[in-house]
Amino acid sequence: MAGGLAAAGGTLAAGALSMTGSSGMAFAETPKAPTAPRPSTPDEALSELLAGNKRFVRGKLEQPRRDSVRRTEVAQGQAPYAIILTCSDSRLAPEVIFDEGLGDLFIVRVAGNTGADPLIIGSMEYSVVTFGSVLLMVLGHSDCGAVKAAVEVVTQGKTLPGELPAVTDPIAPAVQAVQGQPADQMVDAAIRQNVKMTQDALGQISTFADPVQSGKLKIVGYEYELHSGKVTPV
Ligand SMILES: [Zn+2]
Repeated sequence: MAGGLAAAGGTLAAGALSMTGSSGMAFAETPKAPTAPRPSTPDEALSELLAGNKRFVRGKLEQPRRDSVRRTEVAQGQAPYAIILTCSDSRLAPEVIFDEGLGDLFIVRVAGNTGADPLIIGSMEYSVVTFGSVLLMVLGHSDCGAVKAAVEVVTQGKTLPGELPAVTDPIAPAVQAVQGQPADQMVDAAIRQNVKMTQDALGQISTFADPVQSGKLKIVGYEYELHSGKVTPV
């Protein structure tokens, strides 16, 4: 599979180059070095994400792979190296906080970053099976409204309108697991517990467990802190 992907990457690069050559007028700008080597191992992938997050925190963004050369390249095919399962919260767009570009990340977002729904699981399986993504990051965040709502449902019996229970129900087991915590720490504890439980549950699914077993995939849990912009392992 790795060979196939590498070959596909080579084809993409060659295609982009020949297009540049045959229609030079369309590429008036000087192509920048467009594509860093795609991380091929889970550890390389995690290092790439953490390096990008460090740039984001320091305000030293490179904003890589966002130009027309990259756009042309990935229009012919994608091979995202990492899957990010994160919250829909507007303050943590993955390409921004990891300083990555087009075609790098396969992102599934749902309020509360849970992975209990077949639609969410299937979306991530697609990226593992089809693109050979080597890292799956479950990314929770501080001050998560979905987790706060789940805490209110579990501890105060609050009822929510519409389909909102579909968001909070999968978080409830994480809240129940940390109910012994002091009230002012319960939301933070539930945020981390929810990441851990989601990470563990995904690790039980054979589509992820098998490549994890053979070292081709790693599942990691992180939390994004809204003020600092930093991600830390859970
Ligand atoms: Zn959230």
